[in-house]
Amino acid sequence: MSPATGTATETEFAPGSVALVGGGPGAADLLTVRALRLLRQADVVYFDRLAPTEDLAVWAPRARLEDVGKRPGHHKVPQPEINRLLVASALAGLRVVRLKGGDPFVFGRGSEEAAACEQAGVPVTVVPGITSAVSVPAAAGIPVTARGISKSFTVVSGHDPLSEEELAGLAQLGRQGGTVVVLMGIGTLGHTAAGLMRHGLDARTPAGLVERGCTPQQRVCLAPIDQILLASAVEGIASPAVLVIGEVVRLAAGAELPWSGLTGLAGFTGLTDLVDNA
Ligand code: SAH
Repeated sequence: MSPATGTATETEFAPGSVALVGGGPGAADLLTVRALRLLRQADVVYFDRLAPTEDLAVWAPRARLEDVGKRPGHHKVPQPEINRLLVASALAGLRVVRLKGGDPFVFGRGSEEAAACEQAGVPVTVVPGITSAVSVPAAAGIPVTARGISKSFTVVSGHDPLSEEELAGLAQLGRQGGTVVVLMGIGTLGHTAAGLMRHGLDARTPAGLVERGCTPQQRVCLAPIDQILLASAVEGIASPAVLVIGEVVRLAAGAELPWSGLTGLAGFTGLTDLVDNA
């Protein structure tokens, strides 16, 4: 990593270099001052679907704006092509900003882009962003740690189904009071929730889904973990959303979690069925 990381100033954004910039969880005013400063000087900005983009033309008035965003299921621009574009633009003498949602190094493939730049001899700097893993739960009133309730939080990708070993480890952390945060976890929600319970996490453990957190479209769905799949289906929760599992979720919900009453009803009661049949 370039030693310039962490010390970028207005004059340090040299032509022919790349800045991997975290854009935060989506709200325009959750961008960092450093991010804004680099955007202001940028000649080209390659941005993602989850980055805050509404005001991009104002933030980066000199720049060509290129959408390389990814939609769930398919990549609009494949990663090797993004790497190639960053390097080629820098070698052409441009100041290049790669603007990403959240933090570039949290499931953002930032390290791959940094490596591609370094291999090509292109100076690269990384500007941290506010990650959705912490800020999106907070926007729904869920602290990822709380004194006396949870003293750890674990952030995992739910992009691919978690293995039995991973589920067992997370269930153990959860039983000890740790918070589990799952990004990209909507498609695998049933697998994750059922698996954690199968490995011993209490079915009444509170779970929360926060969709489009930190934006005006934010929606929150809270339920005991054995009802979270049903609750999210009924409420139509879709990606992007952050899943939080642990007692801290109760701080947003008050004494009684929504959907708690469904536990134990006859017939389909959510994940209990999946767990029993697993
Ligand atoms: N680098 C990003 C994460 C990229 S992975 C970061 O640090 O935040 C993409 C996942 O992030 C989404 O599937 C979703 O789980 C989460 N995410 C990002 N922004 C979000 C938002 N505003 N609301 C809810 N989830 C969000």
